[in-house]
Amino acid sequence: MTVATPEGTVISPGRVNLLGEHVDYNDGVVLPAAIDRSVKIIFKKNESRLVSLKAVDLQDECVIHLSHLEKKTSQEGKPLPDWALYPAGVMWGLQRHGLDLIGFDAQFSSNIPIGAGLSSSAAIEVGFAVVCMSLCGWQLERLELAKLCQQAEREYVGVNCGLMDQFACACGVEDHVVMFDTRSLASQTLPLPPATTLVIADSSLRRSLLTSAYNDRRRDCESVVAYFNQLDPSIRSLRDLGEERLLAHEHALPPAAFRHARHVVEEISRVNQAIDLLKEKDARGFGRLMFSSHDSLRDLFEVSRPELDILVDIAAGFDGCLGSRLTGAGFGGSTVSLVLDEKSDAFIHQLRDLYQKQTGLQAVVFSTRASRGAHLNPD
Ligand code: ADP
Ligand code: MG
Repeated sequence: MTVATPEGTVISPGRVNLLGEHVDYNDGVVLPAAIDRSVKIIFKKNESRLVSLKAVDLQDECVIHLSHLEKKTSQEGKPLPDWALYPAGVMWGLQRHGLDLIGFDAQFSSNIPIGAGLSSSAAIEVGFAVVCMSLCGWQLERLELAKLCQQAEREYVGVNCGLMDQFACACGVEDHVVMFDTRSLASQTLPLPPATTLVIADSSLRRSLLTSAYNDRRRDCESVVAYFNQLDPSIRSLRDLGEERLLAHEHALPPAAFRHARHVVEEISRVNQAIDLLKEKDARGFGRLMFSSHDSLRDLFEVSRPELDILVDIAAGFDGCLGSRLTGAGFGGSTVSLVLDEKSDAFIHQLRDLYQKQTGLQAVVFSTRASRGAHLNPD
């Protein structure tokens, strides 16, 4: 299938989280930005109840019947390939929300590295939600659209994710960070520090052990909340817990659960400081918090890997790099660094070279700009 006379094109970005890691399921505030790597979807309606999907990068395609989305099978009755679960899940979620869909043909490709902590999956989900919105004549608020995409990933694909990824892909603003409060769901955009560039380094390591470790961490956070909730019912999440109070109960908590909760509590407070620093345009202060966040993810939350530590160590030794940390869930994936504009090219070369020398691995290192959320192109 090729899409001969395209009716539209949707661009849907990945995202990078600058600060606030592993706080989105603890009611914390996160600071992601949509990036200039994206999924591009070309589509046209086809006057049927069928959706034809082609994943150009994987050279795979399938056809899905809009009346049988819950079966997770193609029109011929075969199980959907993994990649097709993301668009199909979004369509399933939209229908469940009472929204009518019509058949269309679509092909998509992406330059977001897959499984690198940059949300290639949310970009597909949010992109297809925008495709459906533009074809079907109804409107959804961006927050609502992000929530439906998150539900698709949780309930249809089966990945227990927070709302940050879909929110950032849906609501990104050029040259801005999107501050997103995962408790109140309020958001605000803040300009990135002036005269700085974001550099992403994909370590090339894919996340092994991620699912079990992620579930373990979530359980630890919940068990610490349960402990404090018995003492004080107003404590409903780690966000309600001050650092002092947590430290005072260290003796009563299992050491690993204590360390993991400590990361979350301190990271939530780092984000609060970071918001003030962004408002003051203090790039150096913001960068220092990125380094502290990495230390904490390595030593307290225990989700780093030596290769990610090497990337951050190289960054820390570079004059002109203001901050660097692993981004995404950890155990592989990418780091994000904040670098002075005029030093960014040299930084990219040095990071690539030294990483290769120290690990024998090739990192994919590139600068990125905070970008607009998923949209019809042109719109
Ligand atoms: P990420 O951190 O990149 O979001 P995930 O594991 O959540 O990693 O999602 C990756 C999955 O999304 C892939 O396994 C694939 O099913 C789908 N995906 C991502 N990019 C593409 C692409 N370019 N073409 C087809 N499917 C893709
Ligand atoms: Mg994902």
